[in-house]
Order: sequence, then structure tokens, then C-alpha cells
Amino acid sequence: IAGLNKQYEVKGQALPVLQDIDLTIEPGEFVSIVGSSGCGKSTLLRLIIGLEGDYRGDIRLNGQRITGTSLDRGIVFQEHRLFPWLTVEKNVAVGVLNADLTEAQKRETVREHIELVGLKGFEQAWPHQLSGGMSQRVAIARALASRPDILLLDEPFGALDALTRAHLQQELHRIWATEGITMILVTHDVEEAVYLGDRVVVMEPRPGRIRSTLPVPLPHPRDRASAAFAAVRN
Ligand code: ATP
Ligand code: MG
Repeated sequence: IAGLNKQYEVKGQALPVLQDIDLTIEPGEFVSIVGSSGCGKSTLLRLIIGLEGDYRGDIRLNGQRITGTSLDRGIVFQEHRLFPWLTVEKNVAVGVLNADLTEAQKRETVREHIELVGLKGFEQAWPHQLSGGMSQRVAIARALASRPDILLLDEPFGALDALTRAHLQQELHRIWATEGITMILVTHDVEEAVYLGDRVVVMEPRPGRIRSTLPVPLPHPRDRASAAFAAVRN
């Protein structure tokens, strides 16, 4: 992302929302973005996913300028946005709808991803029968089923209780580590940002700008925690 500027038109007035955003993310990196409400985090994700057309600057994925939405970028929102009239299986299948796969391969991809997020056995359940955490698992499976190069997460665990959130954070980390997907996580939870991110980008509001990037010091807090657990166990 280079020299990215975005403004909205509100009552005939230009409202600058993002100003001069420069951000380079390496393949396989996990970048967390934090910043106060209204600083433009969701707008930034919507721009990357291609849901906002009108901007100045350059957004590239693997060197290609981003035009329109595409399945090379998956997204998970705070509210899960599942299709209520589709079962878990059919919701995840939406992720492979346009994939260049045979029907059998599509079914297999759906099965794999339901298993990946720990929902084996819930294939035929309806969204209204799921807890918030389970719904977010389905949303993650659906986003990943399209085998995106990059997964964007906009406060995916914000509406969950602390225990479910902690559990899903670990699951997300496991998926990131095993699948090798680039992830961008927007969160209000600084601990979550540091726990999951290789890097934490801090934004400031009015207009939204990158204030600083915190390199997460080594050893990573996650590794410190597991080292501590290992020490206790031995
Ligand atoms: P939060 O942490 O509350 O989710 P955010 O950092 O995601 O906030 P955005 O949703 O990106 O913030 O909004 C950034 C600014 O742009 C806000 O001032 C918001 O009011 C404004 N904004 C967002 N979408 C639109 C829109 N479609 N039209 C006009 N203004 C908008
Ligand atoms: Mg937001």
C-alpha cells in the first residue's frame, strides 16, 4: 500500500478518512492493526478487499494493482454475516462457488475447512443454532475455503466472551502457522494484537494515519508464555 488517501463525501463536504498510508506486508506475515474508533481501520480493510472503489494511491497484491473484489482476499467481519437460509456446509461452500474445481473437489475443500475450524459434525446445522464463536468459525472457514492469499479480519472476536475469544485466538494462530496465509487483523484488543501479530500497526484518527509500527520484541509473548508453561510442566 503506497500513498493511500481516502475521503468520503458527507453532506457535500469532503471528509478525509485515510491520509498517506504506506504499508508493506510480506507474504505469510501476521499484521495487527490497532487504533481508536473511527480512525479508518475498517475503511482500510474494505479498500484492500476492493469494496471501496474511490481512492488515491496504490494498493497491490503480489505486484498486481487491486481492482474490484476477488477471492484472492478473504474477509471476516465482527458480525459473522452468515447466510441464515444456508446450512454450515452450504455457507462454507459459498467460498468455493466460483473456484476452478470439480464438484467433488469443492465438496472435499468444504469438508477440509469445516474440519480445520473444528466444526466437524455441524455440517447440517443452521446459523441460528450456532453460538457466536461457532458462527465466527464458519465465517473463517468460508473465507479460507476460497484459498485466499490474504485473510482480513475486522474485529472477528470482538463480540465473543473472553474464554471463547482466547480459544479462537489460539485456533487462528494455529491456522496461520499451518496454512501460511498472510493475515491482517484489526482489533481493539491490544493484547490480542501483540499476541497474534508479528507486527502491530498503530493508527491515529482524523484523518487516519499510521502513527507507528511496533515490532513485537523477541521472544514473542506467545513463545514466552509457552516457555513458561513448559517450565512449569517439567
Ligand atoms: P471502529 O473501530 O469503530 O470500527 P474504524 O477505525 O473501523 O472504527 P471506519 O469505520 O473505517 O473506522 O470509519 C472511519 C471514518 O470514516 C469515520 O469517521 C466514519 O464515520 C467514516 N465513514 C466510514 N464509512 C463511511 C461512509 N460510507 N460514508 C461516510 N463516512 C464514512
Ligand atoms: Mg471498524
